[in-house]
Amino acid sequence: MQVRPADLVAQYNGIEAEIDDAIAGVLRSGSYVLGQRVKDFEEGLARYCGVKYAIGVNSGTDAILLSLMALGVGPGDEVIMPAFTIMVDAAVVCLLKAKPVFVDIDPRTFNVAPEQLEDKITDRTKAVIAVHLFGQPSDMDRILAITQKRGVAVLEDACQAIGAGYKDRKVGSLADLGCFSFYPTKNLGGYGDGGAITTNDGVLAERVRLLRAHGDAGQYDHVVVGINSRLDEIQAAVLSVKLKRVDLWNQARHRNGRRYTLAFRDIENLVTPYEDVNCRHVYHQYTIRTSQRDELRRYLRRREVTAAVYYPIPLHLQKALSHLGHATGEFPASERAAREVLSIPVYAELEPEKIEYVSECIAEFFSA
Ligand SMILES: *Cc1c(COP(=O)(O)O)cnc(C)c1O
Repeated sequence: MQVRPADLVAQYNGIEAEIDDAIAGVLRSGSYVLGQRVKDFEEGLARYCGVKYAIGVNSGTDAILLSLMALGVGPGDEVIMPAFTIMVDAAVVCLLKAKPVFVDIDPRTFNVAPEQLEDKITDRTKAVIAVHLFGQPSDMDRILAITQKRGVAVLEDACQAIGAGYKDRKVGSLADLGCFSFYPTKNLGGYGDGGAITTNDGVLAERVRLLRAHGDAGQYDHVVVGINSRLDEIQAAVLSVKLKRVDLWNQARHRNGRRYTLAFRDIENLVTPYEDVNCRHVYHQYTIRTSQRDELRRYLRRREVTAAVYYPIPLHLQKALSHLGHATGEFPASERAAREVLSIPVYAELEPEKIEYVSECIAEFFSA
């Protein structure tokens, strides 16, 4: 039985008529970029996240880049982030000629370890990027308790976590700015690239709106230097159709995750994902840990199950960031995660037979 990491066609088949109508409506409207459908989606997303403003942009990468630009991050500034995350977080900081500063992770959640944050804050620290990795929110109360007394801004990288909950709130509403990606395989994905920024801060919202369109305040009156990072009408129309279903899909991912966790409970050399009691995890990835990761991955491949490693190299050991001068051993929890993590298929449409099959394959591997 073949099991892949996602089945985007299966998702489309369930909403085909509504999606086709939405796209045809855009084609007939003559308005293709930053029109009414983008406005409608922005309003819907703001309501969904429980914030005042949402601004559609071209990707999750741009959402983080524009958020940092809106905060005024530039040469000489420092931005703190976990060492175990996607390269994007560090790359955008470097593009602004600022310096990524790493903190190790809590090995249970894969998110930043708040107790290690305080020591990393200096006079040059402009922001902290709290990544909600794999769909589980970071420990925001503890992060904010440290950053607020030092006057440091916090940006949520919620690209993997739309709909995830922290206490009684949703990600994207927990800090100064929230960043989302609508890359097709994310929990809310378009049929192309897309992203958004959420905030309750009217000044930051206005700055982001300007920055995403070359700083044009209207009539070619450019008040700041910005970039082109616009959301298009087709993606916005598609995303509005899908936003209505994202809670159902997230629930299905969670249910699938629970099935695995139950199936793996007696396997010794396998750690199942930890769920913080304060959080609602949305399982963008169902990520197990095992010291036999590479062997297990190969075994699964032979059984036609595609498992993935997010991420095999922590940021402080990336070649592209060698100018920062880090060495192996500096962030041991991140390095160990990079060696041990394996994400197995958990998408919403995954059939129970396939979950059973994957579970059996994994049980067989460990009993051999
Ligand atoms: C996908 C992702 C991004 C980047 O989003 P793109 O839309 O691909 O640019 C950033 N951070 C995290 C954690 C992501 O998963």
